Amino acid sequence: MQQFQQYIGGVFSDGSAQFESRDPASGEPWALMPEARGADVDAAVLAAREAFLSPSWMEMTASARGKLLFRLADLVAENAPKLAELETRDTGKIIRETSAQIAYVAEYFRYYAGLADKIEGAHLPIDKPDMEVWLRREPVGVVAAVVPWNSQLFLSAVKIGPALAAGCTVVLKASEDGPAPMLEFARIFDQAGFPPGVLNVITGFGPECGAVLSSHPDIDHVAFTGGPETARHIVRNSAENLASTSLELGGKSPFIVFGDADIESAVNAQISGIFAASGQSCVAGSRLLIEASVKDQFLARLKEKAEAIVIGPPDDMTTEVGPLCTPTQVQRASDLIARSVAAGARVITGGSALERSGNYFPPTIVDCSETPDAPCLTEEFFGPVLSVVSFSTEAEALALANDTDFGLASGVFTKDLTRAHRMIRGIRAGIVWVNTYRAVSPIAPFGGHGLSGHGREGGLQAALDYTKVKTVWLRTSDDPIPDPFVMR
Ligand code: NAD
Repeated sequence: MQQFQQYIGGVFSDGSAQFESRDPASGEPWALMPEARGADVDAAVLAAREAFLSPSWMEMTASARGKLLFRLADLVAENAPKLAELETRDTGKIIRETSAQIAYVAEYFRYYAGLADKIEGAHLPIDKPDMEVWLRREPVGVVAAVVPWNSQLFLSAVKIGPALAAGCTVVLKASEDGPAPMLEFARIFDQAGFPPGVLNVITGFGPECGAVLSSHPDIDHVAFTGGPETARHIVRNSAENLASTSLELGGKSPFIVFGDADIESAVNAQISGIFAASGQSCVAGSRLLIEASVKDQFLARLKEKAEAIVIGPPDDMTTEVGPLCTPTQVQRASDLIARSVAAGARVITGGSALERSGNYFPPTIVDCSETPDAPCLTEEFFGPVLSVVSFSTEAEALALANDTDFGLASGVFTKDLTRAHRMIRGIRAGIVWVNTYRAVSPIAPFGGHGLSGHGREGGLQAALDYTKVKTVWLRTSDDPIPDPFVMR
């Protein structure tokens, strides 16, 4: 079995304990992971705090930080095939997706490398003649970054990039499910030339590791991606020392198709919108809202395409849908479908786990037009399950789109420009894609509201969120300050 190590203060070590990681394609253990517990978390936070206060990091110019990030971007690009292979092996995300995504992760580091010396303060035209007042943007401090298993490198890069650009230091807690790519990333980071302790990478379980980290008194900000229930724990934990938080949580994103849309394009976008990453994607367009006039035509084509999807081992370049990350996810999918069918929903295709070793669940489409309370339509689920509802009017489409406590992403397919604008205005979500779905870029902010969380990743805003503002007052007069208690 392969053995991985944690990275604390620039040193690789075994954790307090070890745990086995299982290959999602075979179900067999394949690697031993370092399990961080209290003492490891303390050591990682201490290393990050010392690095934050050290002259080698604190006094480094922003341009020099940017250069190190450029070097890191190059190293990630060079090592992308190895990182992709490990993410595929440990999480089951197919190699087609990990290869493309990790190559693009390098662009996120490049974007924040370029931004490092453009995070500017401001000068205020203050209303007093003998004062200069300006704002300094300073790093927020030591950041705890906690990520889930899916797209770990991507979800970590969107935290590490802006945090380091802003001058923070980071303790990254990789998910206990599939941590291999992050532990390998630590080895790559180590070659970039950052001072020790600027980034620390540990992994472990929620209560023993994540909770200890997010409640640690020496953490200034917690950047979390994961489920809403864990987010509640994180916020409670961070209340201990009033650390700030940014939360990127789940979604139940509407994918809205009007009758005038280009049906073939919309079908293709819906297929990738829900079945890419085997549906284990926060922005998955998991609720198809389809205009009744084209419902039969659309669903027939969608079913045909879903059934033609190649399901197979994740390391095969021809595979289009791979296994889910854990057996628990397969169990959850089966349970969700059983409860939805019991509520009256109709399975159009898929619906039960494949009878082969590994965590395979097929692309599944469920018609919930007659069952608006079906669990698959209302509950966030991380898997290849698409729930369908039809509508007759634009107002009905908008009401259905907003009938959720989540607010992450949405898609609108129509050729009617004015209608597209009305939908953009009306939809309550952090992202609206029009006649496209799933497009992302380091330049564009990403995030949601409601149960989908708060804060933004990507773009300039994310880097600003890792800073705090210091207001400086400087008196320019040489006249002595008069005694305030002497009457004149
Ligand atoms: P999760 O919330 O169970 O776990 C996420 C991370 O939190 C893991 O590292 C876990 O160990 C840690 N954790 C668990 N309990 C903790 C606690 N009490 N205190 C601190 N940390 C704790 O999420 P998951 O099941 O691994 O991932 C799926 C979820 O992530 C879904 O809800 C999905 O929608 C969401 N997600 C959101 C985005 C986004 O960008 N918005 C992206 C990917 C995934």
